[in-house]
Amino acid sequence: MIAVRTSSEIEKMRAANKIVGDVLREIEQYVKPGVTTLELNSIIEDFILTAGAKPSFKGYGGFPAASCISIDEVVVHGIPSLRVLKEGEIVSIDVGTILNGYNGDGARTFAVGTVSPEKQRLIDVTRESFFEGIKQVKAGRRLGDYSHAVQTYVESHGFSVVRAMVGHGIGKAMHEDPEVPNYGRAGSGPLLKAGNCLALEPMVNAGGYAVTIDRHDKWTCRAADGLPSAHYENTVVVTDTGVEILTL
Ligand code: MG
Repeated sequence: MIAVRTSSEIEKMRAANKIVGDVLREIEQYVKPGVTTLELNSIIEDFILTAGAKPSFKGYGGFPAASCISIDEVVVHGIPSLRVLKEGEIVSIDVGTILNGYNGDGARTFAVGTVSPEKQRLIDVTRESFFEGIKQVKAGRRLGDYSHAVQTYVESHGFSVVRAMVGHGIGKAMHEDPEVPNYGRAGSGPLLKAGNCLALEPMVNAGGYAVTIDRHDKWTCRAADGLPSAHYENTVVVTDTGVEILTL
């Protein structure tokens, strides 16, 4: 069952997710060679707390920080640390909030200084695949229509979509039904209704789709072939005519 949110619940989703969009816009100016991922995380945490929300990732399943910061071949769930960002890397920043009992979730991938054309293309295709996907989303369509559109777009550019990690319903909990794969068959999956809230998040690998999880921290998810990976996520509400994006 995908929850159908009332208009007053959607108002609360807008508020929680606006903070996510704001912090992801704010953080971009700090993504530079020489900054540590822990410094970025502190800025993010302060921003969310100052906005009156809580960072939902902190303590989630034991995760130690307010944000996931994932460099180059790290797909998602990188743990902020004293690691310094270097020119030419790409870094994905994933942020979650809770405000008045409702959850926000979103992610962006940024270039650190100047990056190779191939890495820039990976960032661009990942973002574009989200927008290709949401063209297929409105009340009465099936979730697989989104999944298929993302996969088709990504693969047409020679990249692959991660299979082991997926998007999700979102609302009173950060992760609710349904799972939202970024690959699949058109016309398959649950029927969408107006008021469904979804975190849609293509994770795209420059090489193959296989990933590994680091044994020592049980979080860090890497492209198995060591090639770069990008991530782009927005929380949306399904409407009768399309989607309202809550995290831009
Ligand atoms: Mg998410």
